[in-house]
Amino acid sequence: MKLENMFKKTRLSSSRKNYISLKEAKPEVPQGLLRKCNRCGQAIITEDVKAGGYICPKCGGYFRVHAYRRIEMVADEGTFEEWDKGLTTRNPLDYKGYEEKLEALKEKTGLEEAVITGKARIDGTDAVIAVCDGRFLMASMGEVVGEKIARAVERATEVKLPVIIFACSGGARMQEGITSLMQMAKTSAALKRHSDAGHLYISVLTDPTTGGVTASFAMLGDIILAEPGALIGFAGPRVIEQTIGQKLPKGFQRSEFLLAHGFIDGIIERPKLKGTLSRILKLHAGCGKTAAGIPEKDIIPEQYNKVASAWDRVEISRMKDRPVGEDYIHAMFTDFIEFHGDRCFADDKAIIGGVGRFGGRPVTVIAQAKGTNTKENIERNFGMPSPDGYRKALRLMKQAEKFRRPVICFVDTPGAFCGLEAEERGQGEAIARCIYEMSALKVPVLSVIIGEGGSGGALAMATSDEVWMLENSVYSILSPEGFASILWKDSTRAKEAAEVMKLTAGDLLEAGIVERIIKEPGHYTIQNLEEVASKLKKYMEGFLGTYGQMSEEELTEHRYKRFRRM
Ligand SMILES: [Zn+2]
Repeated sequence: MKLENMFKKTRLSSSRKNYISLKEAKPEVPQGLLRKCNRCGQAIITEDVKAGGYICPKCGGYFRVHAYRRIEMVADEGTFEEWDKGLTTRNPLDYKGYEEKLEALKEKTGLEEAVITGKARIDGTDAVIAVCDGRFLMASMGEVVGEKIARAVERATEVKLPVIIFACSGGARMQEGITSLMQMAKTSAALKRHSDAGHLYISVLTDPTTGGVTASFAMLGDIILAEPGALIGFAGPRVIEQTIGQKLPKGFQRSEFLLAHGFIDGIIERPKLKGTLSRILKLHAGCGKTAAGIPEKDIIPEQYNKVASAWDRVEISRMKDRPVGEDYIHAMFTDFIEFHGDRCFADDKAIIGGVGRFGGRPVTVIAQAKGTNTKENIERNFGMPSPDGYRKALRLMKQAEKFRRPVICFVDTPGAFCGLEAEERGQGEAIARCIYEMSALKVPVLSVIIGEGGSGGALAMATSDEVWMLENSVYSILSPEGFASILWKDSTRAKEAAEVMKLTAGDLLEAGIVERIIKEPGHYTIQNLEEVASKLKKYMEGFLGTYGQMSEEELTEHRYKRFRRM
């Protein structure tokens, strides 16, 4: 019960409040020298707004950005090459007045249609980009929008380039009827081919992204970013309010809401957008192989078991000041970008996942995270992941497979979260799916147990090519308390249970359950983490060198046999 409450608290606190969420539809950038901001009502100088990335200097509100301006903001100067300019609709429904309306809009905006596509360089990396422009019929998706996006994606597949689409749309274009609906299928199908060919697609959601566009290309990114406060949803707020006859809560369908519910990877403030896109693009550029070689072993089991009792190790593994998952991420990887969400229900903070560099090469890093202080402990649910956490982990592992990146997992959990909500959302299924998919992942997977390796909740992130343990970490079927309670109906006999459970690194190395033990300093804290981290790095280089040279078949066969003999 207590844990459930903590969980609820975590869920509530995970909705980010530090971004400005705009209640009303955002205004066009004011013309002329001095205008009033529609959000805060203050007088602002148009030039300042333009220079500041179209953000109100007074209230921080985001103005909508025209497509060509957006391209200028993210592309290296003079590198944008526009494609398929001048495509115009056939007016498939012969809808009265539609052509006239389009002509008037072309005149007014200087645009031919609601999306601009082409190729550009971003901090030196080539990418295909498409940018929707809300001035043109609210960037609704008619046949031309669909066609231009599909063509751009097809060309990206052909020339092996990543795609970035800046979405903003009122949805399908009613004036084009069913033809408009078909654009959802057309753009999605083109993106599927691009993805199957192993290329990266980054979707950037801007205000507003709604309707058929969210139900197609906008939500299909390998990585989905959003601008702060953007309205993002399938059915617009007005439609929902009319349907259910209720007022929607504040912040509903805004970027922050989507992040909390697991649908986007991150919210990026406009001044940081180009830099973030550039980092992500670079992390997805081809990765080299390191040399093979397995370094010597650190500890042999015979010495090991004399040093401390199993129960001592259980206690050490749970120490409050012991380094946790997030510490290893910071200590061992550079350029780490955290990605969020299971694309289904939530972003579970008990698991941190993302992409970083290990010795220059991109790797996917997933860590069970306990937090470093009481507030974080609660936020991260004491390292007990929910189904959403395992689904996020699996999503990131599958992504690693697509981009041929090795996966490094840090395991540290008392066990998967036991609670009503976890059961409702299929805790068992989520763990099972993780184990199932991990067992056949076509890239090298290494798991390091850094603290508690509790039960299926740990195995879900340890169905790997090799599992390593820190000297005082433990790995077991369940906690000694639970073991004593189930077998002896007496949880106070935990200490005794620990001794018979064979849960220490020494026992598990001997049993062939793990491959390597990493020695720890006497009192192991963040202060002397570097000692362990530098050793881990050395061994990991060896691991990546060896497994990185194996073919997909060899890798999965090796992993299959590893568990088959157990
Ligand atoms: Zn303002």
